[in-house]
Amino acid sequence: MHTIDTDVVIFGGGIAGLWTLNVLRQAGFEAILLESTALGEGQTLRSQGIIHGGMKYALSGLLSPDAEAIADMPALWRQCLNGQGPVDLRKVKVLSEHHYMWSESSLAARLTTFFGSKMLRGRIEAVTGEARPSLLQSPSFKGTVYRLNDVVLDVPSLITTLANQHLDHIYQISSPNCLIEVDDHHHTRAIVLTRHQKEPLKILPKWLVLAAGKGNQELMLHLGLQSPAMQIRPLHMVLMKQKGLPPFYAHCIGTSSKPRLTITSHPCSDGDLLWYFGGELAEQGVERDTQMQIEEAQRELRHLFPWVDHSGARWKTLRIDRAEPEQEQFMKPDHAFARLCGNAVVAWPTKLALAPNLAQQILALLQAQGAKPVAAPLTKRLDLPLPPFGPTLEQLMRNL
Ligand SMILES: Cc1cc2nc3c(=O)[nH]c(=O)nc-3n(C[C@H](O)[C@H](O)[C@H](O)COP(=O)(O)OP(=O)(O)OC[C@H]3O[C@@H](n4cnc5c(N)ncnc54)[C@H](O)[C@@H]3O)c2cc1C
Repeated sequence: MHTIDTDVVIFGGGIAGLWTLNVLRQAGFEAILLESTALGEGQTLRSQGIIHGGMKYALSGLLSPDAEAIADMPALWRQCLNGQGPVDLRKVKVLSEHHYMWSESSLAARLTTFFGSKMLRGRIEAVTGEARPSLLQSPSFKGTVYRLNDVVLDVPSLITTLANQHLDHIYQISSPNCLIEVDDHHHTRAIVLTRHQKEPLKILPKWLVLAAGKGNQELMLHLGLQSPAMQIRPLHMVLMKQKGLPPFYAHCIGTSSKPRLTITSHPCSDGDLLWYFGGELAEQGVERDTQMQIEEAQRELRHLFPWVDHSGARWKTLRIDRAEPEQEQFMKPDHAFARLCGNAVVAWPTKLALAPNLAQQILALLQAQGAKPVAAPLTKRLDLPLPPFGPTLEQLMRNL
């Protein structure tokens, strides 16, 4: 059996695994990432790409701990986009330098008081006239618009940029052919990968990182770990394609503490954009079937933008589960989560925006255990395939 030693094996090639691979390798660790399907598959490529600073969580009227934990993230990502942060993201495409929030006129007063408060100054700014997104420049629009510090990224280019810097350390595995050897103390000794018509490959890692999103549950089972528990938050997202859609990146604020509707725009190969709808529409739409969910989205658009004709649009819906560490009363977690169990770190970023924070936590956990880079660097690629890149939203929409 061919055997190799390595410092860290990371399971999962979404944002959590890829960012962590970058950070650990920069810190000198010999780290290998194993992906069972495709890079970005799962939640990451289905996300809306908003690197938010938590402003949407502040809607409850108070700046919650949730908002504080995430407040520094847009600035850190902007540093990375300029090539000055912990990870080089200069090749990532920025879809919008800002995300916006808007409310209908009936709610404007509540928001003006809240967003005008001293606490939020500098993080959010009311905009008028031509500073508004083009869609909200119509004379028929009567609400209030705020510009947030958040940047919106093209997630496929983010995944490609992170992966391309370490392609020789990224491998595709087939989960049924991956055997994890664990001792009585939940300590992983070896990962044995059986291969068609080839001798098995045995990887001996000092440490593991479980960054497989929803797949963490099954990996934890293999490791005999009962905790940390995971919770699943199902979403029913909506996709809309129509010729000539303007770029639009905004949360619509309703009466509740969560955005009523979040719209982002994503480039397609024909040069047009598709609109992707999340927010409460997607959370509450889990109970609706496809047709009902599309009708609900159409109703929302007619109500919010009565001056726009969307009669020629094509519609699809997409179901996807968010994977999070379990919280009391099924609350949304307010920070990235990483916990050491034996020699494995179980990790969920909980938000795309928090991936840098998660990777730093993982590095700190390993260093606190005395982990040091010791394994010899790989001199050539292992004889395992490179995983493909997962589908873009346009490709997903075509195949739904
Ligand atoms: C619809 C939607 C919109 C969102 N929008 C935003 C947003 O705008 N801003 C934001 O900050 N956050 C957003 N999020 C949250 C964010 O997308 C997730 O928190 C983040 O992508 C999770 O990344 P991950 O790497 O942990 O998991 P995933 O992206 O799910 O990746 C897990 C990877 O592990 C692989 N895998 C699974 N099992 C195994 C195994 N046994 N071995 C090896 N590999 C395995 C999977 O194939 C997958 O590639 C959104 C989430 C959703 C669902």
